[in-house]
Order: sequence, then C-alpha cells, then structure tokens
Amino acid sequence: MSQKSLQFIYIILLATGLYGIVFSLNKFIHKPSVGISAHELSQKENLVPVVVIGSGCAGYAAALYGARGKMKTVLLAGNQPGGQLSGTTRVENFPALVDQLGPDIMQKMQKQAEQFGVEIVYDTVQSIDCSKYPYEVRTQGGKDINALTIVYTTGASPVTLGVTGEDEYWGKGVTTCAICDAPFHKGKDVIVVGGGDSAIEEALQLSSYARSVTIVVRKDYMRAAPSMQDRLKAVENVSVMYNAEVKKINGSENEGVSSVELYSNKTQEASLMEVSGVFLAIGHKPNSALLRGCVDLDSDGYIKTKGKSQETSMAGIFAAGDVEDKVYRQAGVAAGSGIKAALDALSFLQAHGFNAALAEQLEPNYFSAKKAAAQKQSNVAIETITSANDFDQIRTKHAVVVVDFYANFCPSCTYFTPTFESVAQQLPDITFVKVNIDDVPSLANRYKISSIPTIMIFKNSERAGSTIGAVSEAEFKAFIKKVL
Ligand code: NDP
Repeated sequence: MSQKSLQFIYIILLATGLYGIVFSLNKFIHKPSVGISAHELSQKENLVPVVVIGSGCAGYAAALYGARGKMKTVLLAGNQPGGQLSGTTRVENFPALVDQLGPDIMQKMQKQAEQFGVEIVYDTVQSIDCSKYPYEVRTQGGKDINALTIVYTTGASPVTLGVTGEDEYWGKGVTTCAICDAPFHKGKDVIVVGGGDSAIEEALQLSSYARSVTIVVRKDYMRAAPSMQDRLKAVENVSVMYNAEVKKINGSENEGVSSVELYSNKTQEASLMEVSGVFLAIGHKPNSALLRGCVDLDSDGYIKTKGKSQETSMAGIFAAGDVEDKVYRQAGVAAGSGIKAALDALSFLQAHGFNAALAEQLEPNYFSAKKAAAQKQSNVAIETITSANDFDQIRTKHAVVVVDFYANFCPSCTYFTPTFESVAQQLPDITFVKVNIDDVPSLANRYKISSIPTIMIFKNSERAGSTIGAVSEAEFKAFIKKVL
C-alpha cells in the first residue's frame, strides 16, 4: 500500500475515533527515510553517530563497542545509573568475575567505557522523535541530540504491589533497595516480598542488620535457583512464609512502616505482622515507553528484535538487555546483547556510508555535554559536613540550604552525586552541602532519614521539603523550584 493511501486511512480512522488502529499505523506513516548525506549532516549540530540510552550492563557494553569502533559514542545514563546490578551485592554468575559486588562491576564497566572515549551524560531522556532522521533525542536537562543510531538499553523497573500504604510509605520503610536501606533496620523485623533470586538476595543483605527477615512468597514454592535457596540455610534469622500475600501496609507519617496485614491463600486466614520494613522483589517491567509507537513491542511491552540481531522494526534503532529480553534476564546476557547491538549499529553506519573519513569531517558538528557544561560551570565548592554542629551553623547562616544525605555504601547515592554537583553549579546563590550519614548519624536520626539518598531543603533554617531517591537533573531543579 502506498504512503498516500495509508495517510488517507489514517485521517478516516482519526475521524471515526478508532485510536487503537491509528496507533499501530502511526509507525508506518511517520517512518522517516533513513539516509546519510554528508551535505545534510554538515548543516546539523549536536550529531552523535552512536547514542546509547541506559547505563546497565547492556548500555556500557554497547558503549564500549561503539567507542572501540571509532565512532563518537554518547551514553545517556538516566536517573538510576548502573542499572539493576548496582542494587545487588555479590554476583556469582558473571563469567570471569569471581564473587564480585554488583556496584563494583558497574563501576569497572563505566571506567572501561570511559577509557575508550565514551562520553557519559548524567541526564534522562525525555523523548525520542523517530519521525525524522537523524533521530531527535531530547533530555530532561534540555539537551538535544541528533542520533544517527540509537542503542536502547533502558532495562526494566521494579514492579510494585499496588496495596494500600505502599505509596504512602514509599521510602519510609517500603523500598526495593536492600543494599541502600538495610542499615536503617538494625535490630528490627522486616519482610521481603517475592520468591525469585532477587528476594533471596535482598533477604541475605538484610540478614546482617535486621533481627528477623521473613520472605513472603505467594505460592507454595520459590522460583529462585536452588543454589540461591541453599544460601538461606546458613542464615539463622531468615525464614520463608509460603502461600502468603501482603494485603495492606500500616504505619505513620513520622515513624514510617509499623506493620503489614497478611493473608494466607491456603488457610484463608488474615494476620498482622509488626515490621519496620517492606522490601519488594516481585519482578520488573520493561522500560519501553519512550519507543512506544516507534518500534514494535510485544503484548508485555518488550521491544521486538529481528532474528539473531538486535535490530528493532525501525532502521538505525537497536535494543538490548532487559527491555527486549523477557526470557534470560541475566547480566551476562544483557552485556552480550549490548555488544551485538553496538556491532549492528556500526554495521548500519558503515552500510549507509558513514565511514571514518565522514566521521572526521563532521566532528565539529558533534554534540559534547562536556564542552557545554565547562562553559556554564561556576566552580561552586560543595562542603561535606562532618558534625551536627557544622551543619547547624550552615543551616542558620544561609537563607536556603540544599542537603544531600548519602552514604558510600549506597549505589544510587554515588550516581546521584554528579546531578547534585551539576545543579549546585547552576544555582550559585543557593548553598548545597553533603552529609554522609555514616559520619553524622545524629543528623540522620534527627531528620528521621530511613532511605537514601534523601534530599532536604532548609529555608530560613527550617526544613521546607524533602525528596527520596536519585532524581534526574530536571526533576531535581523542579523540586527545588517547587519548594522555594
Ligand atoms: P522473578 O521474576 O524471577 O521473580 C519474581 C517473584 O515475585 C516471583 O516469585 C513471583 O511469584 C513474585 N511476584 C510477582 N508478582 C507478585 C505479587 N504481586 N505479589 C507477590 N509476589 C509476586 O524476578 P527476580 O527479580 O527475582 O529475578 C529476575 C531475573 O534476575 C531472574 O532471571 C533471576 O535469575 C535474575 N537474578 C539473578 C541474581 C543472581 O544471580 N545473583 C540476583 C537477582 C536476580 P510467582 O513465582 O508466583 O510468579
């Protein structure tokens, strides 16, 4: 069918309100003609031959191969840099890496990518316009990039229970990151919900801090690998409760979670369990929203790839990792698919005439966040507070103080740091400080910090607002604006 006839059907369907069919036709109608013309590209700014979106195993592996293929590669890290491995502890099954910590693996992947010249941008993609070529990638921080190829590796996000109290106590006892929040539950009772490998990992992390850890499993068995289940045997304070479902989470604004209401689907009995923490480990859903309507997705929202390649249904856009893999979902597989996606992207560029000579010719038109940031930086120093006394002096001396409560053991804190520093440079009239809660636990107690990173704003020495978790640059700036 010709493009014209499709457009005609599109208008008719719009008029009759058949949006579902319109939606699936969208991608045919807006498909740009993908061609690389030296002249057209030389008229454009902010070009990038390989844009990697996402910073998990798939993203870093793809970026490494893109840069080693001698193509300028920009990796947009998103607001949870490091992906899922950054939230785990011991990793036993990444080939050649014996018993290493997830965050350490991610730091090595990042370092290796940077050594080969990958430019890492700590910003989150807001939209991808795939109706024109080069594809327009816009970030929440206001950066516009013209991408000749996209390797999309946004992974998957934790699924939540959807029960009463979950949203209310999010970050106040309800969380998905044991590695970040376990120290807040020292000597207390907690539950982990889920029966997979993640649930066991979370329980093991918590067992060194909590008095008791109960894994709440909805079936009468766990789906976790037998070797993982074996690890539980050596830990005395972890038990498993089968056929149990969480129905409600109770608590208070000040103290956070206090108990959960449980239901046994075997005995049909309800019970109340007093706990300070609810750690969710009930799986993930693919983060494919930015490409919805642009590439083909399956009925669960996973990106479809072609045959043994990582090609999507849109030329020049490739997908890798958990956003396209609902079967294996392993870190090693994600890294492998990232490599494949980058090789596919390099072949695509080559096949369309984008060779080393053209790359060199277009270099002045390339995007560079470093250049832009260097121009706008004002070199504001950020103090790290080491005593409650110092903190109180700063809090009372300055009209507005923005505080990042963090700890070195918390991966999302580490990854939030560049965003915090970047915003501090952009708002030199505001005082930004960092508080390591390990160095000054009295401040964590005073402000009832139960999840990190926590960002708090003080206005005229009084607490004016707070937010929990790593946020993007745009979200951070919007939060400051809202509070002030
Ligand atoms: P999984 O999808 O494997 O497991 C999710 C668990 O949550 C299942 O037990 C599921 O129950 C349960 N669940 C889902 N929805 C609900 C709900 N609404 N209420 C209660 N329970 C629910 O996810 P994981 O994150 O554990 O693992 C994902 C992948 O990552 C796997 O391939 C795993 O092997 C891997 N992984 C590997 C690790 C390692 O090797 N160190 C560590 C962590 C993960 P049901 O069984 O009834 O569906």
